[in-house]
Amino acid sequence: MSQFLSISGLRATIDDQGSPKEILRGVDLEIPAGEVHAIMGPNGSGKSTLSYVLSGREDYEVTGGEVSFEGRDLLAMEPEERAAAGVFLAFQAPVELPGVNNANFLRTAVNAVRRARNEPELDAVQFLKAARAEAKRLSMDAEMLKRNVNVGFSGGEKKRNEVLQMALLQPRFAILDETDSGLDIDALRVVAEGVKALRSPSFSALVITHHQRLLDYLVPDRVHVMARGRILKSGGPELAHQLEAQGYAGFLAEAA
Ligand code: ADP
Ligand code: MG
Ligand code: MG
Repeated sequence: MSQFLSISGLRATIDDQGSPKEILRGVDLEIPAGEVHAIMGPNGSGKSTLSYVLSGREDYEVTGGEVSFEGRDLLAMEPEERAAAGVFLAFQAPVELPGVNNANFLRTAVNAVRRARNEPELDAVQFLKAARAEAKRLSMDAEMLKRNVNVGFSGGEKKRNEVLQMALLQPRFAILDETDSGLDIDALRVVAEGVKALRSPSFSALVITHHQRLLDYLVPDRVHVMARGRILKSGGPELAHQLEAQGYAGFLAEAA
């Protein structure tokens, strides 16, 4: 059976002051179409590295393994080709752009992907119509489109803006690395609701977090625990509760 996303034996290194440092040490992961999976794991286990390698960031060297995405060799595709194929990586730290209108900014991002997909670009009027409709569907205030990009936005508003961008790009596969947003409960809820609103048989997501709370809102289909560059254990949402109860140290000791 051809899986939607299939990662097998994935190894990757980063240049650490002149010598390669292995970070991913044989990652195996299958995400079927229409499912939302979560990865949890202690700091430094390679979660962010996995998201960067999947999105095609240059700093990493893939030294082994395979990633197939809808039957294509994802690792052979340029980052732009991956985006055109529907792979979306959410930004971890949204930039503030004073003087840049948010609607224009979002339209530029959407049109870049549409160009790569050979779809006609949206003019300002068409885009605003689509963006307002999407904002409404996500229960967001469309006034956000008129402001400057992220300037004076609360943590929750920045997340709303990111989720709006994700929704407008209509990804097939979204990777959200939520490591740094955990302190703001409002932001976590926005992410969870945004992913839930996109749930469909043709959308999958990989949500990286170490916040049990996010997973309570999101209710993922599967939870994977990553440690030392590999997926150590996979299970249902109850695995997140087990981790919470045991702590990573206790969990890793038991799994070893
Ligand atoms: P996580 O997201 O799970 O916290 P990361 O993928 O950010 O883990 O990092 C995995 C490991 O790779 C860590 O030990 C980190 O120190 C190391 N690492 C990440 N980037 C670099 C780099 N540029 N140079 C050297 N080591 C790095
Ligand atoms: Mg980290
Ligand atoms: Mg990280």
